[in-house]
Amino acid sequence: MGSLKLVTIKGIPIRVHITFPLILLWAAVQFGRGQSNMWQGALFGVAVTLLLFLCVVLHELAHSLFAIQFGGRVNEITLLPLGGVAQMERLPDRPYQELLMALAGPVTSGIIGIGLAFLTLFLFPLRIWTDFLRALSSGGTLSWSYLLPYLAITNLFLAGFNLLPAFPMDGGRVLRAILATVMPYGRATALAVRVGQALAWMLGLLGLLGRDVFLILVALFVYAGATQEGRLVQLKTALAGLRVRQAYSHSPQAVHPEDPLSRAVDLMLEGFQSDFPVCEEGRLVGMLTRTGVLRGLREYGPQVPIHAVMQREFPIASPEDDLFDIQQQMSERGAEVVPVVDAGTFLGLLTRQDLEEAYRLVTAYPALLPRRR
Ligand code: ZN
Repeated sequence: MGSLKLVTIKGIPIRVHITFPLILLWAAVQFGRGQSNMWQGALFGVAVTLLLFLCVVLHELAHSLFAIQFGGRVNEITLLPLGGVAQMERLPDRPYQELLMALAGPVTSGIIGIGLAFLTLFLFPLRIWTDFLRALSSGGTLSWSYLLPYLAITNLFLAGFNLLPAFPMDGGRVLRAILATVMPYGRATALAVRVGQALAWMLGLLGLLGRDVFLILVALFVYAGATQEGRLVQLKTALAGLRVRQAYSHSPQAVHPEDPLSRAVDLMLEGFQSDFPVCEEGRLVGMLTRTGVLRGLREYGPQVPIHAVMQREFPIASPEDDLFDIQQQMSERGAEVVPVVDAGTFLGLLTRQDLEEAYRLVTAYPALLPRRR
């Protein structure tokens, strides 16, 4: 939510986030400022930013098409004020596949950058480059012919920046893929994460010394991204090959749609359970989560029938589903709990606590739960 769909390319919806116009506003102010014709400067800023984001979409599409080629799934590409994000599921983790997928983006940006640079050389005299840089730094008049060199330079920058060998940049994946050819995937990730964190420290230090707030922000972004990737792979390695059936809670207390909400409150106070399947004659008809109980109490009081406050649409898991996949889906949707259903029969619940428990147990003693590859 919070985004609008623009187009669908090769089955991938391209969406723009509602905060996206902020970057256009920023560009209008940034380019309009100090121009003798303020409006023309602002218009230049908006146009160049829109074109740049078109190039960002091509960069993300390149990643996505390779991911799909290798059996991954791309849910959508979203444009945010600071760049594009391709939301993918089941990323390829064979080293050469990850290498190709990670390189596809920066290579695309590089090709666009070099192509536009040649086009600039072909169409305009050589001094357009110096004129353009002077206009940009000293507020000289921005001419429309500067669009080409500007896009050429920003695309080349995009390619270079993304190739920095640090998570969360594409270069981090490239580095891991190369390392993973000579060591286990988990160790390759740990090493690539370290490199990313070290690079973040260096950028942060440079930012502090140069009093460059932007650089400090980039450093924080890099550090957070590297750390997050490390955690994700730890989790993935721990849960790899485990199935939902090995972790879910069997036969939880169920409630009936006609029960008053106070029934769920009593059960919450009596035991450990805080999310309830709503069942009618053994059939799952809804879910009542802790948040749902609290909202129901606030809005309607304890006497409201459960069917009036329960969730009717929710993701479900089957016992043979991959535990890591379900964990990813839950964290993407912010779901606390997923009902486990087999051929229409309700079996139990998989909660965040179940996942954490499985993670802690297999980390402590990997042989505890048998894995299937
Ligand atoms: Zn990329």
